[in-house]
Amino acid sequence: MSEVVNVAELFGRNVFNETVMRERLPKSVFKKLKKTIEDGAVLDPSIADVVSHAMKDWAIERGATHYTHWFQPLTGITAEKHDSFISAPTSEGKVIMEFSGKELVKGEPDASSFPSGGLRATFEARGYTAWDCTSPAFLREDAIGVTLCIPTAFCSYTGEALDKKTPLLRSMEAVDEQALRILRLFGNTTSKRVTPSVGAEQEYFLVDHEKYLQRKDLIYAGRTLFGAMPPKGQELEDHYFGSIRERIAAFMKEVNEELWKLGVPAKTQHNEVAPAQHELAPIYEQANVAVDHNQLVMETLKKVAGRHGLNCLLHEKPFAGVNGSGKHNNWSLTTDDGINLLNPGETPHENIQFLLVLSCILKAVDRHADLLRESAADVGNDHRLGANEAPPAIISIFIGEQLEDVVDQLCSTGEATRSKAGGTLKTGVRTLPDLFKDATDRNRTSPFAFTGNKFEFRMVGSSDSISSPNVVLNTIAAEALKEAADVLEKAADFDTAVHDMIKEQLAAHRRIIFNGNGYSQAWVDEAERRGLPNLKSMVEAIPALTTDASVKMFEEFKVFTKAELESRVEIEYEAYSKAINIEARTMIDMAGKQIIPSAVKYASLLADSLGKVKAACPVADTSVQEELLIEVSAYLSDMKVALAALSDADAKCSAIEGNKERANAFRNEVVPAMEALRDPADKLEMIVDKEFWPMPSYGDLIFEV
Ligand code: ADP
Ligand code: MG
Repeated sequence: MSEVVNVAELFGRNVFNETVMRERLPKSVFKKLKKTIEDGAVLDPSIADVVSHAMKDWAIERGATHYTHWFQPLTGITAEKHDSFISAPTSEGKVIMEFSGKELVKGEPDASSFPSGGLRATFEARGYTAWDCTSPAFLREDAIGVTLCIPTAFCSYTGEALDKKTPLLRSMEAVDEQALRILRLFGNTTSKRVTPSVGAEQEYFLVDHEKYLQRKDLIYAGRTLFGAMPPKGQELEDHYFGSIRERIAAFMKEVNEELWKLGVPAKTQHNEVAPAQHELAPIYEQANVAVDHNQLVMETLKKVAGRHGLNCLLHEKPFAGVNGSGKHNNWSLTTDDGINLLNPGETPHENIQFLLVLSCILKAVDRHADLLRESAADVGNDHRLGANEAPPAIISIFIGEQLEDVVDQLCSTGEATRSKAGGTLKTGVRTLPDLFKDATDRNRTSPFAFTGNKFEFRMVGSSDSISSPNVVLNTIAAEALKEAADVLEKAADFDTAVHDMIKEQLAAHRRIIFNGNGYSQAWVDEAERRGLPNLKSMVEAIPALTTDASVKMFEEFKVFTKAELESRVEIEYEAYSKAINIEARTMIDMAGKQIIPSAVKYASLLADSLGKVKAACPVADTSVQEELLIEVSAYLSDMKVALAALSDADAKCSAIEGNKERANAFRNEVVPAMEALRDPADKLEMIVDKEFWPMPSYGDLIFEV
C-alpha cells in the first residue's frame, strides 16, 4: 500500500486563499479585498502594501525565495519572470527580504518578444502586468525551489490587452451586468452577481520519454509527422474507461496531489478512446479561475510526466488514425447565491426564465457561430474539427429530445403544454411544462450540447487556452441578454412580452438546433441548406474576429477594441505560418537525414542479398528480394521528389509578405506537400526491416507505454 494521503489537508496548501487571508490580514483590509474579489468592487490601492507583506511572510515561511507575476500572453501558454525577495545588500553585506505593494500590483517585464500583432512597436516595448486579485496567488514547488506566483493581466503602455486574461475579465463583467437585469425582471432582488462557471475536461496522451526523444517530430512539432498505423488501433475500444495501468496510475496520483496543493479541484480521471490517451476533469469554478487552473493542469501534467519517465503530449492530434485530444468547456451562468440560470427548474416561473435564457443563447450562438468556431481554432485543431472525429467544424446546438419538443410546441402553437420525458405539468398562466434534467440523452457528435444544466462546448483544442472560447461565450450571451432586457424592461405586460419573445427567438434561431449525427455528410449538406457557416480550417476561421458584427459587439461591451481584434488576427495568422513552417522543416530534416538514408541502407542490404544468393545458387528464387528492392526504390524516388517539392513550397511560402497571404499559402501549398511526403514514407515503414527504421513506430509509442 502506498502512503495515505489526507486530501482535505493537502487541498489548497499552496494557495493564498481566503482562510490564509482571514488569518493574516487585518480585518478591514481583508474585507476590502474580499469586496473586490467577490463583488467586483474597484481595488483599493492603499491595501496593496499590507497584502504584499502578508503574502511575502506566508510565502517565505514556506520556503519561497522568489516571486513572479504569472501571466498569459497571446502565445496561449503562460509566462513568468522570477525575482528573488532579496533587497540590495546593506553596508554590512546583509540582505533583507522585501516585497512591496507596488511589486504586487504592477510588474514591467521586458515584453518586446511577446506577440502583440502590431499593437506595440518594438521601440515602445513596455508592457505591464497587473495583479488579478480575483484569482488567488499560489506557491509553485519545483527544481528552482518555491516560487510565489501572482496571477496577473498583461497590457501595453497604452492600455491595450496583450493577453488572454484581460478580455476574459472584461467579458465576465459584461455578462454579469446583463444577466442581472434579466434576473431583476423575474423578481430576483437578492442575487448580487452572475458569474460564468467553467469546468474544462482535459484530454492528453502519455508516451515513454526515451521513445519521445527518438522522434524529432514529437520534439519539434508535438505530433508525429510520419508513422504507419500499427496492426491494432482503437477499434476494439478496449482502452476507453479501461483499468488504469500501474505506471499511469502512479503518474495520475502525483498529478492529483500536485493539483490539490494548488487548489485545483481535480476530480475525474480515466482512460480515453485512443491507446495511451487519458482525461482529467476538475470540478467547475468561476471562469477566470478555471482558465488559470486549466493552465496549471497542463503545466502539471507535463511536469509530473517528466518525473515518471513519461512525456505528456497535449497536441490535438499527436497520431494519425486514432482519436485526437480536445477539451470540453462546460459553461453555465451562476449567481453568487447559487442559482444556475441554465437550470430548467421545477416551477413554471423558473421554466419561463430558463426558456428565455435558452432562447437568448440559441440566438447568440446562431448569430455568432463563426466567432465561436474561431475561438476554438488553433493549428493542431485543424486535424480534428471537420476531420470526421470529435465535433465537426459546423456549430450547432444539441438540446435533446425533450427540449426540442418544447421548442416545437412553442413555435407551432405558441404554447407548450406537454413535456415529453413524462414530467408532470404545472399549470401556470402560460402553462409551460416542467422540465427535467435528461441525463440519458447524450450526443457525442455535437459541438455545443446542453447537458442538463450547462452547455458543453466540445470544439476546444487540448493544447489551447480556454480563455478565448469563454470570452466569446460570455460576450455573445451578454449581447443577447441585453437585447432581451432592453425590450422587456419597457414592456407593459411582462408575461405576454416574455412569452412572445421566447417564441420569436426560438423560431428565428431554431436552425442552429441539431440533434442528429454531426459526423455525417448528410448534416454537412443540411447545414449548408440552413445557411450555417462551415469554416473548415483555422485560416478560414480567423476573419470572423473582425467582421462588422464582431467588432460592433466587442466594442459595445468593451471586451475588445477594434485594434485589439485586428492585432489578434495578425498574431493568429503568424502563429499558423510559424507552426506549419516548423512542421515542414522537421519533415524535411527527418526525411532527408533519417528516413531516406535508412531506406537506402535497407535497399543495399537487399541488393547484397540478391547478388550473394544469385552467385551462390543461380537457380534459387530471388523474386522476394527483387520485388522488395523495386518497391523500396520506387518509394525512395517518390520521397525524393516529394521532399524537393516540400522544400520549394516551404521556401516560396516563407517569403510571402503579409500574414494573411502567407498563412493561406502555407495551408494551400505546404500542408498538401507535407501529406505527399508522408505517404511514401509511411509505405516504406511497412516494408523496411524494423532494425533499420530510425525511430520508434506508432505501435511502440502508443501500445508500449
Ligand atoms: P459530463 O459527464 O456530462 O461531461 P460531468 O458531471 O462529468 O458531466 O462534468 C463535466 C465537467 O462539467 C466537470 O468539470 C464539471 O465540474 C463541469 N460542470 C458540471 N456542472 C457544471 C455547471 N453547472 N457549469 C459549468 N460546469 C459544470
Ligand atoms: Mg463531458
